Amino acid sequence: MSTAPAIKVNNLYRYFGQLKAVNGISFEIPHGSVCGFVGANGAGKTTTMRILASLDYPTMGVAEICGINVVHHPEEVRRLIGWMPDHFGNYEHMTVVEYLDFYARAFGFSGKERKNRVQEVMEFTDLVPLADRFSNKLSKGMTQRLCLGRSLLHDPQVLIMDEPAAGLDPKARVELKHLIRVLAQEGKTIFISSHILSELGEMCDSLLFVNGGRIVHHGDAETLRQGTDALGGMLYDVQVTGDPQAVSDWCVINPHVEFLESRKTGGRIRIESTDPDRAAEVLARMIKDGLKVVEFHKEQRNLEDAFIDMLGRIDRGEGALPSAAPKPVLPAFTPPESN
Ligand code: ATP
Repeated sequence: MSTAPAIKVNNLYRYFGQLKAVNGISFEIPHGSVCGFVGANGAGKTTTMRILASLDYPTMGVAEICGINVVHHPEEVRRLIGWMPDHFGNYEHMTVVEYLDFYARAFGFSGKERKNRVQEVMEFTDLVPLADRFSNKLSKGMTQRLCLGRSLLHDPQVLIMDEPAAGLDPKARVELKHLIRVLAQEGKTIFISSHILSELGEMCDSLLFVNGGRIVHHGDAETLRQGTDALGGMLYDVQVTGDPQAVSDWCVINPHVEFLESRKTGGRIRIESTDPDRAAEVLARMIKDGLKVVEFHKEQRNLEDAFIDMLGRIDRGEGALPSAAPKPVLPAFTPPESN
């Protein structure tokens, strides 16, 4: 295995006319890790992934898979990656096994080896019972498993998955998550985009947040959950016996505390400080004022809140990472004529 990172992107740009879909992003993903790619609609995720999959050309910058430049050596890159697009074509009157066999042929397998690869992939993705079903008549979950199976036929080191969980019901999402976990345990590098942040947090070693074509954060989910909110406050869950309204009433007349949300026996509050002594003071004051507090604990932020906070920081001109100040250092790349 190469010592280069599994995925490396350096000062990557992709413009569509005036539109800066990818605007100077840089990141590295080490071998064997799972990285979530997060961003609002139109943030530039698919464009970045398509460049990594050698399906599009950057306007400028470098993208490499295991040290191999995706523009200069697309064939080599395609042998190393499994690409699972958000939408993919299907064929009428082609069964699941015929579909996979067709792609195994395209990957260059023949004879017994081809048969074995198709069988292994069908077993892994639990498609054996569906082998003779028409591939264009499958449910969304089955279709995603077929697409995953297709991308695994050549046993790639790196998997690039664009919104694989979109449109799946909860059961199909759990199945997909399980398959991704097994692939990660096998040592594959997985780069996966999704809007379902809570799910990404569970299975990813790191999260890459993109906004307006720029990386705004690259770190692990735990740090984000533990972090302060955009204004430097901390969230607490407060539960009381008696009237739960007492918590919100108390917050209204006390400074540095904000009531955020009612809960069955209390509510969620925000204290305008990260200092634990301040939280202790708030608790002491509540008790002194007669609130019967039975629970008072710091809440982890969910990833959605963390992401929204991050965007708020960017809007206010705070906290953007260096990648937000693009300095193109590479000569413009002129893509070869496509045929
Ligand atoms: P989504 O979550 O909606 O899939 P995304 O983060 O994947 O969004 P991209 O599909 O990369 O975003 O699109 C980034 C921007 O580039 C969008 O404004 C999109 O309209 C634009 N764009 C993408 N492909 C093209 C194209 N071929 N021609 C013109 N504009 C494009």
